[in-house]
Amino acid sequence: MKVLDADYVASASLIAQLPSDSSRREIAIVGRSNVGKSSLINALTNRRALARISRHPGRTRTLNLYALRCSHAGREIRFNLCDLPGYGFAHVPKRERAGWSALIRSMLVERPALCGVIALVDAVAGPSVLDNKMLELLSEGERSVIVVATKIDKLGKASRHAREREIEGILGLPRDAVIGCSAIAGIGLDALWSAVLTALEGPTGAP
Ligand code: GDP
Repeated sequence: MKVLDADYVASASLIAQLPSDSSRREIAIVGRSNVGKSSLINALTNRRALARISRHPGRTRTLNLYALRCSHAGREIRFNLCDLPGYGFAHVPKRERAGWSALIRSMLVERPALCGVIALVDAVAGPSVLDNKMLELLSEGERSVIVVATKIDKLGKASRHAREREIEGILGLPRDAVIGCSAIAGIGLDALWSAVLTALEGPTGAP
């Protein structure tokens, strides 16, 4: 997969405020704060600071939309990447934490072009209670859920596969469902792209 263009489109605090183009398929990316989401977006798109450019300092709940134009096997593929705010920040008020599940639900309902969600889990820390809750919410939809274990470079080569299988076990996922990735060492990015391509060809939430 070659990323030809990766452009920041817009930021918003509510799904309804994001521009929407139902003819353009969408992939969302979710994970708790500090899981390595921004780093992974930059690594996937091969841009140094795409995810950071649009950050609004002091605003914890920001959705960012990026437009991607890629080329793969002689085909041009265009889709949007929807970056959801990190959850689980310890000092976020309870009201806002509750708002976060509402945000996921509204994303599943109000983004008809959404066909997949990349859900990030820290490879070393393992899935948190909130990660479990997030995956539960996502499983209510029809879309592909791609589970990534981030920062896999922090583990020795010999233990990476075992850790992926262990995370699958904790989350009750089938074997080989978890893709170990490292934004820093460039591990697993091809496997993740291939899962994204499959999701882009799968069903959306459109009626
Ligand atoms: P976000 O809050 O989820 O967007 O996370 P960031 O991308 O800002 O990363 C949080 C921290 O984890 C930063 O200190 C990164 O340098 C570090 N980090 C991110 N990805 C990786 C990775 O693949 N490997 C390692 N070792 N550290 C990473």
